[in-house]
Amino acid sequence: MQYNLDIRKKQEFDVVVVGAGPAGISAAVSSARMGLNTALVERYGIVGGSLTIGCVGPLMGNVSKGTIVDEFKQLLQIKEPYGAVAHDFEHAKTVLTDLVNKSNISLMLQTPVVEAVKDGERLTGLIVGTKNGLEEIGGKVFIDATGDGTVSYLAGAETRFGREGDGLVQPVTIMFTLAGIDDSKAISPQHNTYYVRLADSGFREKCREAARKGLLPKNASFVRLYRTNRPNECMVNASQENYINGLDTDDLARAESSLREQTNIIRDFLRNNVAGFENCYVTGSSETLGVRETRRVMGEYMLTAEDLLTGRKFKDAVVSEADFILDIHNPAGAEQADDRRVKPYDIPYRCLVPLKVEGLLTSGRCISGTHEAHGSYRVMYICMATGHAAGIAAALSAKHNVLPRELDYRLLRRELLNLGIRLSKIE
Ligand SMILES: Cc1cc2nc3c(=O)[nH]c(=O)nc-3n(C[C@H](O)[C@H](O)[C@H](O)COP(=O)(O)OP(=O)(O)OC[C@H]3O[C@@H](n4cnc5c(N)ncnc54)[C@H](O)[C@@H]3O)c2cc1C
Repeated sequence: MQYNLDIRKKQEFDVVVVGAGPAGISAAVSSARMGLNTALVERYGIVGGSLTIGCVGPLMGNVSKGTIVDEFKQLLQIKEPYGAVAHDFEHAKTVLTDLVNKSNISLMLQTPVVEAVKDGERLTGLIVGTKNGLEEIGGKVFIDATGDGTVSYLAGAETRFGREGDGLVQPVTIMFTLAGIDDSKAISPQHNTYYVRLADSGFREKCREAARKGLLPKNASFVRLYRTNRPNECMVNASQENYINGLDTDDLARAESSLREQTNIIRDFLRNNVAGFENCYVTGSSETLGVRETRRVMGEYMLTAEDLLTGRKFKDAVVSEADFILDIHNPAGAEQADDRRVKPYDIPYRCLVPLKVEGLLTSGRCISGTHEAHGSYRVMYICMATGHAAGIAAALSAKHNVLPRELDYRLLRRELLNLGIRLSKIE
């Protein structure tokens, strides 16, 4: 067997961000705005990650004022109250592509990262697969915004997977959109603008009973419905496959097939049992299944449930007032395993700095935390805020020629504060 490993060096950048999801776009835009030569490398042919390809909405989570989240809300035309209405995925594709292009970023689409190049402990390059074979992209600082922590793993960082005890992760889901709903029958008069009637407890029990009788997939008994910004349409977050390792391609292929089938079963259940849904039909779904949880990259600090439940503040906070429940979809069955409320919490810079590998930062859902803490900071607004902070940190590191681990957090915080981001202050 002979392998063609003729790897061409493509380009050198100051900052290379991998993954163009909510975290990666935020990281690349903020680095480029600091004047750094920045690349954004994405395996699919479009930017947005879960926010576009994944059909994930509504955008959820809160962070303090002044981060790039405020800009995303404007671009995506998010209406208050937040978290109630899903954004328009087609609109998002256009405005996010435009945001990247206007920010003077070298965008590489259809470019999966498949290997890491190191000099000692320092990450110096990434091998990407292209239609012309393998190529190397060099950089001073890299940001892992892959969700899966793939860059960190390839570079030899320490990662963890799943909950303590049994190592299980949250289930996978295919999000889909239903149209043809009769709003006059389906929308609750009490929650006229935002909630579909089905969120009430009567409906929850009806779904559980349907799952017991086999009218719904066994573990899909919690049918979450969200309004979109169009009439007669809703988003469905309900299909569910448990015991899937989102890093295992056999598991992924199996889950993809079963979730596609579940989409039709859920549609039929709604058609046959719910007023206003008699004529509903599927108009769109995520291009590929949505993975809630895979690797967590261990960093200089690991955020814990305790930190979130007590609203802990850190002197090296780079995100403040982060707020979302510990949203853990049951790894071993139906419904929620946890949904405890947190107190607005900080995310310290150390959660973005992986152990063992130099020249690398993380952002988004793969930053350093426990399975429980991850259940909260994995939502999109909080991912954008960690992406924003990682982008600025990478830019400062490259500019001052220091490793991200050696970057003075006070300098980083000063920069973030100067940008107008509200951060908690602890001496
Ligand atoms: C089914 C489901 C429902 C959810 N519901 C909500 C919700 O209602 N509200 C909410 O706010 N959040 C929700 N979430 C959580 C949220 O969508 C994600 O946690 C969040 O999008 C993570 O952002 P990210 O930027 O870290 O990663 P992602 O959005 O996953 O983006 C990662 C990007 O990296 C790219 N990539 C990965 N590997 C490589 C590689 N090797 N080379 C190049 N590119 C690569 C991917 O293609 C992708 O574009 C949900 C998640 C799922 C799966």
